Amino acid sequence: MCGIIGYAGKNQAIPFILDGLAKLEYRGYDSAGVAVVGSDGNLVVEKCKGRLQVLREKIANGDIVQGCVGIGHTRWATHGEPSDINAHPHISMNGKVALVHNGIIENYIDLKKILSENGYTFKSDTDTEIVANILDFYYNGNPLETIQKVIKMLRGSYTLVIIFEGITDKIYAVRKNTPLIAGISKVGNFVASDIAALVSHTRDMYLLEDDEITEVSSEKINIYDIDLNCVKKDIFKVDWDIKSAEKEGYDHFMLKEIHEQPRAIRDTINSRISDNNEIILDNIDLDLENIDKIYILGCGSAYYVGMAAKYAIEKSCGMSAEVDLSSEFRYRFGENTRKMNPNFSGVKRDLRVNKSTLVILISQSGETADTIAALREVKKYGAKTLSIVNVVGSTIARESDYVIYTRAGQEVAVATTKALTSQLSLVFLLAEYMARKLGFIEDTTLIEDLKKIPEQVENLNKSENKIKSYAEKFKTSDTVFFVGRGMDYPVALEGALKLKETSYVHAEAYAAGELKHGPISLVEEGTLVIAVATQDELYEKMISNIQEVKSRGATVLIITNEGNTSAEKVGDMVYYIPKTHELLTPLLSVIPLQQFGYYSAVLRGLDVDKPRNLAKSVVVE
Ligand code: GLU
Repeated sequence: MCGIIGYAGKNQAIPFILDGLAKLEYRGYDSAGVAVVGSDGNLVVEKCKGRLQVLREKIANGDIVQGCVGIGHTRWATHGEPSDINAHPHISMNGKVALVHNGIIENYIDLKKILSENGYTFKSDTDTEIVANILDFYYNGNPLETIQKVIKMLRGSYTLVIIFEGITDKIYAVRKNTPLIAGISKVGNFVASDIAALVSHTRDMYLLEDDEITEVSSEKINIYDIDLNCVKKDIFKVDWDIKSAEKEGYDHFMLKEIHEQPRAIRDTINSRISDNNEIILDNIDLDLENIDKIYILGCGSAYYVGMAAKYAIEKSCGMSAEVDLSSEFRYRFGENTRKMNPNFSGVKRDLRVNKSTLVILISQSGETADTIAALREVKKYGAKTLSIVNVVGSTIARESDYVIYTRAGQEVAVATTKALTSQLSLVFLLAEYMARKLGFIEDTTLIEDLKKIPEQVENLNKSENKIKSYAEKFKTSDTVFFVGRGMDYPVALEGALKLKETSYVHAEAYAAGELKHGPISLVEEGTLVIAVATQDELYEKMISNIQEVKSRGATVLIITNEGNTSAEKVGDMVYYIPKTHELLTPLLSVIPLQQFGYYSAVLRGLDVDKPRNLAKSVVVE
């Protein structure tokens, strides 16, 4: 969520830190701050609410904060409103420790009590300030020992980067459940919450694990385990295209990323389909014969991809798949489910997952806290785990039994576009792969049609002015409904989410058959309803549902397949997508909905790449 960077080197730290924070702005934040250890050993902290630019002006681009080790933060508030005081870094009452934090300290109230009883007072409402003071309280002059002691007391999730009074050449970092990497470079050494902050300086990184304590100086990065034994790690080489982090002439990252989709889908599928249409899925070696249950988990848009995956798996593989939100799923299977009477002689029942269960986890960042928690929960019971992740080396990728990477490249805009269509293309490929393994007849049309998708998306992008004109027409609408059935339902959900995220318009999505069970009472003269109707067997039912809202005054935009000209008789506007396999339609029908979200935001004058209250990767539960 928030962004963190730390630097230790021979140069002034602040220019590197401000540069890194700028690269992390895309993650979404509400305030920013920096701290250094001055040459006299004193800790200097500067921070404020608002954009990084406000901080830059406040500190004259770093001129007034001098020091060769430093830390920086962009905050996404969880405890306490966005304000100057709640912004990070936080410094301890006695000025001995300053730190930045990503995550939530769940037991901060108990720790605050211990500190209050020992005379500590606090300035902010944050959980973070408590950690700075607990470190201060236990500080014995040895940072490693103090951090070791304190992290054993913390519950929750955290990436912490810490500086100590009097230590002018080192920073310290530790993580639990949230991301942290270290980077080795010629200009000095770094830690950060995200690869994006460092790629302009180095491609050589260490991927740090939970409870490892990292000590960074200009010469060295030392990594210790919780018992303070040295940990030896291989260097991870990042192969990102640096252009991903630049707008390259587009007005916004979101528009650039919408236009990058043909490339992203091509990169994701091409190397996985051989010339004779065989599917090669990395090193996946699943014993599908012995899988009897499939769960697909994700959050936000990744959950909608999961819904599409469920339809595809069920239609192709003759077995049911259940999709759930990661945040809900993990509590359905915990230790606290009811135990059976051991003496009962009937069928033993246990809802928990086991070694015959396949759990598919979908996450762009690979750091989504709820999905990580669900992954760890199901692994306890021996489930096979397969993740679909965009960020190479991320936690979910590392901890799953199998990972298939989408090759979307870095996605900067908070509202996902190219990561989503890359995920979709991969789950359709996975469903076909599974079907073949399970003895179903090959669907070569699906593969042939999948290969055509990038070019079809390119053509839809060329005609974006049509959608722009609809966005213009409805730029004062304050409620929009999205409806669809079957494979069109997750697309409707994604369309509504895009509009909510980017344009702050109240947008609701329903399975079209559900409208008359309640929501239709909200439809009135002029309400915009966007109906996705691409599934042949459901087309007539969709037309009936559209008639129902039309009769109550709705204005309807229908998104349907080329050739379905009868839609023009019912819809006020019709947008055609090219013909494709009916399982693949989301890859095309979602494009106009992304464009609608984008242009609706731009025409309302909103900050489309960094919508209010949102963060790019949600690393708190
Ligand atoms: N819980 C901390 C706060 O509210 C950290 C938030 C963050 O991850 O940015 O300040």
